[in-house]
Amino acid sequence: MAYRIETLERCFRRPPKVSFEFFPPRNDAMERTLWRSIEMLQPYAPHFVSVTYGAGGSTRERTHETVCRINRETPLTPAAHLTCVAASKDEVLEIARRYHEAGITHIVALRGDMPEGGAFQPHPDGFRNAAELVEGLRGIADFDISVAAHPETHPDACSQDADIDNLRRKLDAGASRAITQYFFDVETFLRFRDRAAAAGVNAPIVPGILPVTNFEQVVNFSKRCGASIPAWMTRLFADLDDDPDTRQLVAAGVAVELCHALHAEGVEEFHFYTLNRAQLTVAICRMLGIRPAAKVAGAAMGAEMAASA
Ligand SMILES: Cc1cc2nc3c(=O)[nH]c(=O)nc-3n(C[C@H](O)[C@H](O)[C@H](O)COP(=O)(O)OP(=O)(O)OC[C@H]3O[C@@H](n4cnc5c(N)ncnc54)[C@H](O)[C@@H]3O)c2cc1C
Repeated sequence: MAYRIETLERCFRRPPKVSFEFFPPRNDAMERTLWRSIEMLQPYAPHFVSVTYGAGGSTRERTHETVCRINRETPLTPAAHLTCVAASKDEVLEIARRYHEAGITHIVALRGDMPEGGAFQPHPDGFRNAAELVEGLRGIADFDISVAAHPETHPDACSQDADIDNLRRKLDAGASRAITQYFFDVETFLRFRDRAAAAGVNAPIVPGILPVTNFEQVVNFSKRCGASIPAWMTRLFADLDDDPDTRQLVAAGVAVELCHALHAEGVEEFHFYTLNRAQLTVAICRMLGIRPAAKVAGAAMGAEMAASA
């Protein structure tokens, strides 16, 4: 009990910064879900909100439209994911130029994966990796650039040290922060952060938090991206396939525990993979001591009224 109160008090005293990740909608119904989620999450004053780029650039236009609409219609700072796989340098840099012209200042620069799967092959006229992409973006504008980090080592890396060297190259090329692939074990992140610091990585490494809504989907995706699923998680989600309400509660509990443990270890910023659903992320933000801005303003006004009564 003492642990829980101490953790919550620490969060209330010093709530972390948050950012939210969305994917571009494929149809009208998905568009309505996305905008309802943005509306629900906006009061939690995210540092930025990012929009993913489909495999091999398959959502190029939809990502662009979503990012620009967020920029036009909300006070949020949007970040556009951009990959360099399956495209020439000119094509990729043209997209970046369009973002710059539309007033977009933040890019999440990634290599991406081959659209049909299999080993990565750079485009003959393309960037060979995310570090080269970051360098290319620097030549277009003074973007705020985030890059990916892989606490459990990227499947293509020959070792964790080589992967951390690659992260350092991306930061040296001009990125200002790394956002991690999701993970479920606190120690995995802390060990990675220590090794990165020992290798001279000074930029913030922001943990990517995935609140699990569909366990089976997460298990399948994790096989491809190299994230491991701890045995305790398999036990927690066992037999909940047909019980979405309980699954949701368990998912919130798991993510809150993870965030609290990381916050206790000095993590001051979290990036949430929202999958365009707001409710879980809202609950987690509240458990991290983050109050919606309108409510804070309302409370301040209430206090003023009480004082003048
Ligand atoms: C926060 C986040 C957001 C993401 N968003 C998207 C998205 O919107 N769209 C999408 O398609 N994918 C996305 N991804 C997935 C990402 O594209 C894949 O993980 C991809 O396989 C690697 O991308 P990267 O930018 O980390 O690649 P890189 O940093 O280029 O590294 C990939 C691998 O190659 C190795 N490597 C790189 N350069 C060299 C070199 N010179 N010599 C030897 N080895 C090298 C690295 O060590 C690493 O193992 C995201 C991932 C994360 C963590």
